Amino acid sequence: MTSEITTVKELQKMDPVFGQLSFDNHEQIVFCNDKDTGLRAIIGIHNSVLGPALGGTRMWNYANEWEALNDVLRLSRGMTYKSAVAGLNLGGGKAVIIGDAKTQKTPELMRKFGEFVHSLSGRYITAEDVGMVTADMDTVRDVTPYVTGISESRGGSGNPSPVTAFGVYMGMKAATKFQFGSDNLEGKKVLVQGIGHVGETLVDYLVKEGALVQITDISETRLEEVSQKYGATIFRGDDLYAAPVDIYAPCALGATINDETAYKIQAKVIAGAANNQLANENVHGPILQERGIVYAPDFLINAGGIINVYGEIAHYDKAEAMRRTENIYNTTLEILGYANANNLTPQKAAMAVAEQRIEQRKKENATK
Ligand code: NAD
Repeated sequence: MTSEITTVKELQKMDPVFGQLSFDNHEQIVFCNDKDTGLRAIIGIHNSVLGPALGGTRMWNYANEWEALNDVLRLSRGMTYKSAVAGLNLGGGKAVIIGDAKTQKTPELMRKFGEFVHSLSGRYITAEDVGMVTADMDTVRDVTPYVTGISESRGGSGNPSPVTAFGVYMGMKAATKFQFGSDNLEGKKVLVQGIGHVGETLVDYLVKEGALVQITDISETRLEEVSQKYGATIFRGDDLYAAPVDIYAPCALGATINDETAYKIQAKVIAGAANNQLANENVHGPILQERGIVYAPDFLINAGGIINVYGEIAHYDKAEAMRRTENIYNTTLEILGYANANNLTPQKAAMAVAEQRIEQRKKENATK
């Protein structure tokens, strides 16, 4: 007798990995467990056609294993697109460690994690993500060479955030040119949401160019600091999405473009650092397009960080990383043009360009 399946949850229980909604033909998923250190981690390798799967390790207190698996599947897939569209010879991967980074992260746990990374012989290369700092990558480096984002004193590239901010700035200028006919940000009203590592440097670039910058953050201390340092105005309105600005730069959380905000946003350009800004790319991307808002795809314009650590794989050269990051300007213009010509949203256009590059390489590899 066959039982009736009614919910996605039930389906997922039957096919807990390949049946996950976020599963998208991932090549390999590695579950790592170590009783002594308490390590429970998942490494997701989404696609390695273009090169080794590079992506950060996130340590997060996930509510359950489903959430952790879903996160690693989603994030590793995102890395495939990010590297492919940035023109890097890298595949997409990501790792999650289940636990509280503040209380459960120990050098022993990080070393054990490094051993698991090493066991993949370079198919996956790790880096820093939420819950990790450069010192953790240095610990991982003690047991494996398959790690980037290590300290400059150890030959690494250090903090990627300033490079990410530069790339976002380039992407924002390109999207502004596409929308307004000129990439000059002088006098443009820009709202930066989240003035952390990336947001603050972005504010610096914007203020220097003469943009009228407003900032929001959940930290009042940060707001005061950044406002005083750069002369940016603290946004004090009730609803930042309805603010009459030219450009909205999400640099805090993902999914800020959602059912509640997509019809409300007044900005004519959206360009920021946060990952996965569109709550649903199939729904919210088209709404922005219909409303004439130019959306610079997040994974395209926040690639400065990965471009920076990419340089570490051979020999790190800061100037080369900045040159490649500057090119985000050209790539963004190309993709916005391609989207327009093919009646695609910019997000779908960027994904198509990434997929074309992967398919092309697959063909080349097959004929070798
Ligand atoms: P961060 O943690 O340094 O800064 C985030 C800031 O956002 C903090 O100041 C925080 O107080 C603020 N914030 C949190 N919730 C908020 C809310 N609801 N409203 C307003 N502000 C809020 O992070 P970061 O390194 O600057 O990264 C920012 C975003 O860019 C993240 O989504 C990150 O995943 C993404 N990103 C970062 C890099 C990088 O190189 N750091 C690379 C690619 C993508």
